[in-house]
Amino acid sequence: MAKAKKVRSWAEPFKIKVVEPIKMLTVKEREKAAKEAGYNTFLLRSEDVYIDLLTDSGTNAMSDNQWAGMMLGDEAYAGSRNFYHLWDNVNKIYGMPYFVPTHQGRAAEHMISKILIKPGDYVPGNMYFTTTRLHQEMAGATFVDVIIDEAHTPEADHPFKGNIDLKKLAKLVKEVGAEKIAYISMAGPVNMAGGQPFSMKNLEKVHEFAQKHKIRLWMDATRAVENAYFIKLRERGYSKKSIGDILLQMMSHFEGIWVSAKKDLMVNIGGILATKDERVFEEARNMVVVYEGLHTYGGLAGRDLEAMARGMEEMIQFDTIKARVGQVEYFGNKLIDLGIPIVRPVGGHAVFLDAKKFLPHIPQDEFPAQTLAAEIYIDSGVRGMERGIVSAGRDPKTGDHRHPKLELVRLTLPRRVYTQSHIDVAVESIAEVWDKRKSIKGMKMIYEPKYLRFFQGRFARLK
Ligand SMILES: *Cc1c(COP(=O)(O)O)cnc(C)c1O
Repeated sequence: MAKAKKVRSWAEPFKIKVVEPIKMLTVKEREKAAKEAGYNTFLLRSEDVYIDLLTDSGTNAMSDNQWAGMMLGDEAYAGSRNFYHLWDNVNKIYGMPYFVPTHQGRAAEHMISKILIKPGDYVPGNMYFTTTRLHQEMAGATFVDVIIDEAHTPEADHPFKGNIDLKKLAKLVKEVGAEKIAYISMAGPVNMAGGQPFSMKNLEKVHEFAQKHKIRLWMDATRAVENAYFIKLRERGYSKKSIGDILLQMMSHFEGIWVSAKKDLMVNIGGILATKDERVFEEARNMVVVYEGLHTYGGLAGRDLEAMARGMEEMIQFDTIKARVGQVEYFGNKLIDLGIPIVRPVGGHAVFLDAKKFLPHIPQDEFPAQTLAAEIYIDSGVRGMERGIVSAGRDPKTGDHRHPKLELVRLTLPRRVYTQSHIDVAVESIAEVWDKRKSIKGMKMIYEPKYLRFFQGRFARLK
C-alpha cells in the first residue's frame, strides 16, 4: 500500500519587525458607527475597524528593503535616479520599453482612454472594472463584456473564469466593424468575477484574433502576477516556469498595459502606463505633464518610485506570491467547510460571499450585498465591501440600476498585513452572521452620488 503523503504546513516568508496596534469597539459602538456611515463601509473611519478587508489597494505592508529604498528617494524635480531604476525594472519585468509613472492606476486609465478612444468607439473586455469602464465611457466608448458565461455563475468551478469568449468578441467585431474597436481591454485575475484568472492559451487566441483584425490589445495588468501564479498552478506546461518568465510571456502579447501599483507591487501609492508603441508613449508623455506632473515623476515622490521599483522585484518571487494567494485560499476553504456560499474557485486576492444565496429573501433592489457587508462589520468590526448592484451603477442610456448577476461581498486581504488568526476571527464572525441570516432585512438608498456611487452612497435600514 502506498504511504499517505505527509502534509506540511507552510508559513509566510517573512517575520514581523514593526507592529501597528488595532482595537475592537463594542457592538453598540459599531452599530452607531455604521449608522453614521450610512451603512456604507467606505464611509467608516478606519479607527473604528478591527480587521480591515475593504481592499488590498495601497494597504500593503512594505518590506524592510522597500523602506530602506524610501530613504534613498532622490527628490529632484526632473530625472531622479529612482525613476531610472523603475524604468529599468518596467523593461525587465514587464518587457515594456516605454513607460510613464502615474499617481495611481486610474490616472493611467484616464490617459490611455483619452489617447485610444474616439467617441462612438467600442471597448470589449473580460468583465468590467469600476474605474476602468468609467474612464472608457467618459472618453466616449461603449464597454462590451465578452467574458465567458461561467464568470457570471458563482458556483461554476472553472479554472480560468477570466477567459474571453472569442465568439462574443467576434460577434461584436462583426456587428460594429474592427475600426470601431478602440482596443481590447483584458484584465486578470478579473476582480469583479471574484479574482478569476485567464489562461495563456486564451490570451494567445485573443492575441491571434486581434492581430488578424488589426485591433489593439491592452491589459489592465494591476494583478498580472496573481494571474501568472494561477497559470503556473493550473495550466499544463507551466509548472516548472518561473513567475517572472510567465509574466513576460503574458506581456509579449500586449501592446501596452496600465497598472495600479497599489496591488501587485506592494506599495501604498503609484501607477504605471507602459507600452511597446512609441506613438502612444509620445502622447502619454505629453498628457502626463497636464494631469500628473513631469514624465519622470508622474505625481509621485522619488521615494515612492523607489518603493515601486523594489516592490516590482519582490512581487515575482515565488514564495511571496504563493503566501499571498495561499492566505486567500485558507480563508475561502474555511468558509466552504462551513457551507457558506462563496464564489468558486477561491480567487487570487479576496474571498467573495455570494449575497444572493446568503440573503435570498432580500431582493436585489434592496441591496443584499450592501446589507451583508454592514452586518459583518457590526458583528465583529471586520470590514468588507459591496460588489453588486451598487457597484454596477446605472445604465448611462436608460438611467436604471444595472442588475449584475453577481451580488457579492468582497473580503480582500492586504498583502503581508494580517496573520492566520485574523482570518480565523473573520471566519467566526461571518459564520455568526450566517446563523442569524433569516432575521436580516434589506436597505434603501438615501443618497446617491453621480459617479462611482459605491464609494459615497448612503443607505438606511428597511423596517
Ligand atoms: C485598483 C484597480 C484599478 C484602479 O487603480 P487605482 O490605483 O485604485 O486608481 C484598476 N484596475 C484594477 C483591476 C484594479 O484592481
